[in-house]
Order: sequence, then C-alpha cells, then structure tokens
Amino acid sequence: MVDLKCQYEKIQEEIDAAVIDVIRSTQYINGPEVKAFQKELENYLDVKHVVPCANGTDALQVAMMALDLKPGDEVITTTFTFVATVEVIALLGLTPVLVDVLPDTFNIDPEALKKAITRKTKAIVPVHLFGQCAEMESIMEIAKAHDLYVIEDTAQAIGASHLFTDGTTKKAGAIGHIGCTSFFPSKNLGCYGDGGAIFTNDDALAQRMRVIVNHGMETRYYHDSVGVNSRLDSIQAAILRIKLRHLDAYAEARQNAANYYDQQFKDHPGLEIPDRSPFSTHVFHQYTLKTKGVDRFGLQTFLAEKEIPAMVYYPVPMHMQKAYDDPRYKKGDFPVSEALSESVISLPMHTELDEEQLKHICANVLEGMEACKV
Ligand SMILES: *Cc1c(COP(=O)(O)O)cnc(C)c1O
Repeated sequence: MVDLKCQYEKIQEEIDAAVIDVIRSTQYINGPEVKAFQKELENYLDVKHVVPCANGTDALQVAMMALDLKPGDEVITTTFTFVATVEVIALLGLTPVLVDVLPDTFNIDPEALKKAITRKTKAIVPVHLFGQCAEMESIMEIAKAHDLYVIEDTAQAIGASHLFTDGTTKKAGAIGHIGCTSFFPSKNLGCYGDGGAIFTNDDALAQRMRVIVNHGMETRYYHDSVGVNSRLDSIQAAILRIKLRHLDAYAEARQNAANYYDQQFKDHPGLEIPDRSPFSTHVFHQYTLKTKGVDRFGLQTFLAEKEIPAMVYYPVPMHMQKAYDDPRYKKGDFPVSEALSESVISLPMHTELDEEQLKHICANVLEGMEACKV
C-alpha cells in the first residue's frame, strides 16, 4: 500500500546524517531535535502549542485525560473509523456514543451528531477520515451551542486545510480545542517507528497535557495528577523535521496519483471515485473507492495475485465489533457505515507512485471488476 523504501532513498543522505547526529549526541529523550520539531510543527499548523507524544492513540488518550472527564460522560464519535478513538474513550471509563457518517466523504454526519447530544455529552471526536476534513464549521457551531469540547483526530489528514465560509483557512487539527495526530510510518507524515502529537491553542490545556505525558509531573518526582509515559524520541523527531519540509510536496504527489485513478475509474458503473469536499483539501491518506456489483474480497484476491495490494478500511464498523458490543447498538443502526464497510476498497496510495505503476494498477482493477462481477 505504501512505498517507504523509495521515499527514504530520495532523502537518505539527510536522514542518515540526522540520525547519526542524534546517536552521537546521546540526547535520545527530549533532546533538542524534539523541541525543534515541536516549534516547526507549530509554525506549519499555525497552532500555539504542539505536545509531542509516543503515538496517535496516546495523543487521543492524553487529550481526553486533560479535559478531566468523569466516568459516564459521553463522547461522540463515528462508528466507521479506526478503533483508536473508541478504544481510548472506553479505556478511560467514558461512554462512547456512536453516530453515522456521510455517504460521500465518510466523515461524521453533523445532523446525526446533533441528534446524539444528551445532557451527559462532554466532547466530540471528529475523525478526518482518509485525508479530508470533516465539516468543522458546523461541528464547531454545534459544539459551541452545547458547550462541548472538540478533539480532532487528524491522524489521516495532517496537512489538509479546511476552508471556512468567511474565506479563512485552517489546518486540520488546528480547528477544535485539541487536535491529535500519529506519525506511524505509513501516515502522511510518518517517522521510522512510533510517534504522535497533540495540538492546541489553549495555554492551560497545553500545560496540562505536557504534565500528563510526563507522569503527571511538573516538578521532578512531585506528581500532582495521574499521568502516563508518552514521549516522542529524539531520533524520530530528527526524521520528522526532515519529512515535515516535504509534507506539502508529498500531499501533491498523492493528489496527482488520486487524479490519475479518478480518470481511469470515473466512468465505470461499478466504481464510485472519492468525493472532494468543497471546504477541505484532500491529502489522500487513502484512495478509497466504493464498489457495486462486484465480489469485493474476490477483487482484492485478484489484485493480490498480481502483487497489487488493496485493503478494506474498514470491514467492520465499531458498533459491530466484539470488544465494543453494546446493548444500545445493533446491526442496522448505522446504515451508511454498514453499507460502506461492505463496499469500500482502498488502492495503493503513497508518494512514489509513477505513471507506469498507476497504469498497471488501473488496468488490473478494471480487469478484476470484470472477472469478479456478481
Ligand atoms: C493511525 C490512527 C490512529 C492511531 O495512531 P497510532 O500512532 O497507531 O496509535 C488513530 N486514529 C486514526 C484515525 C488513525 O488512522
């Protein structure tokens, strides 16, 4: 699905030198590279505070811990997503409230969100799925009207910009009260291990999160709150500093690949190409097609036999997962998410796709659509 080797080879000298420098410095934890990356990411996102941490799941957990939510408080997110969001809500003893997504963008449905709000609702976690922002303008309005926190999960959309009706733009993750991201290797801004970060413009929240990621400790060995141990290490930060400089060019490479795919598939009766939201750029973490009239797993196998990876993100919505089995929800409750989980397929998407590869992938997808017709 991704070609991290070719991407590395293009920046190898710079990366190797930066990694060796950190090793020689022996400042492996909280070294100057971490601070420098933090500042550079703050500038890039135009956000006041970046708090680096160990991974995207921790970022979500620390964000929710900082809001001081109590067991039983409700946090709203979507059922068609990666598990991390729901997982941390459950781990903290909070109550996940699931809502459906929009059929075109796969992002949270603002109308469904409104209906899910109760007296116990404390926060909303919109997930900017596959590289495109959720409708943040309506979400922020709803949140304001009901006095709710908004935590953006921008693990798949770092670098995307949201356009507001007054003509201003903001980067994904810099719109809500808190933004969370992941630097997992395959993400749009990926390091060579695990990493994550939390963003906010709120000084008090930033301070609280810096304390939480460091064992709830402000003064060494004095612990004022229960925290966690969640750090971005210096080697990863050094790598991320280099890759951040390429992030916009990487997004453009992904967009070019997506446009090529679009041209090949837009007229196929069994394929629906990804929607482009009018208020968000799309940084194509995934290129996800909706299929019709085809055995989708058959198509996946057909492509695999030709050594073309294809993945189903996500085959089972959260309300139908064993771990999150809940008497409040049953099959049929979220028809859009359920239909998507039965019809979507994602094609290889990364920064190194050349025309020859794209041509080869498209030809085989079209052939597979015929071979796997139902
Ligand atoms: C990858 C991802 C995460 C979790 O990030 P990790 O760094 O793997 O913990 C959270 N949410 C979404 C939407 C993701 O895609």
